[in-house]
Amino acid sequence: MDVDVAGNLKKVLADLPEGVKLVAISKFHPKEYIEAAYSVGQRIFGESHEQEIKEKVEQLPKDIEWHFIGHLQTNKVKYIAPYISMIEAVDSMKLMKEINKQAAKNNRVIDILLELHIAEEETKYGFSLDACREMLKAGEWRDLHNVRICGVMMMASNVPDEAQIRKEMTSAWDFFNELKRDYFADAPWFKERSWGMSHDYKIAVQCHSTMVRVGTAIFGPRVY
Ligand SMILES: *Cc1c(COP(=O)(O)O)cnc(C)c1O
Repeated sequence: MDVDVAGNLKKVLADLPEGVKLVAISKFHPKEYIEAAYSVGQRIFGESHEQEIKEKVEQLPKDIEWHFIGHLQTNKVKYIAPYISMIEAVDSMKLMKEINKQAAKNNRVIDILLELHIAEEETKYGFSLDACREMLKAGEWRDLHNVRICGVMMMASNVPDEAQIRKEMTSAWDFFNELKRDYFADAPWFKERSWGMSHDYKIAVQCHSTMVRVGTAIFGPRVY
């Protein structure tokens, strides 16, 4: 292994204020890299492909909390439902219903985050703020007893302009507060704000993130 995973991990952790969780994004990295992070105490890892995560879950320690961070197709939910700790990028009612169904089959409640589309970049994924408002207003989610909505997740634009990144993260923070006030005031578990990646996690922790998703800064560049 030519990457100092343990050293990198410690550097990232040193940048995080208390109360901010680190999700180590291990997608496309071999299990030895995860073991290196695990051996210095890291327990939360994020993956974005159903087949890859399955293989890693089978081979690695059982006390790892796995987050699914990528776009999840509804037909793949059943594979990860037995063990996934959190599904971070939920961006449709259809997906939420399927997660609820598969969670019920496994006799559990699955924690999820609502993925917001705030960045100016074109992407197919994430609720627009208005679509998210409408979904919550419609109220169908209240019947999904095997899904627990724990907060919001977003990816800021991948740009060098720090002000732009700050603006987007601040919009996400404002929107989190709106949802907290309007729908989740009585839900203490609705508290997570997942933003910040390798290039912008230091900005994210200044912009009210509670969960940063850092891959490259810990494990080095991915080999696809
Ligand atoms: C890959 C990925 C990350 C990690 O990105 P790095 O730049 O390697 O830190 C974070 N969030 C999501 C949604 C990702 O897909």
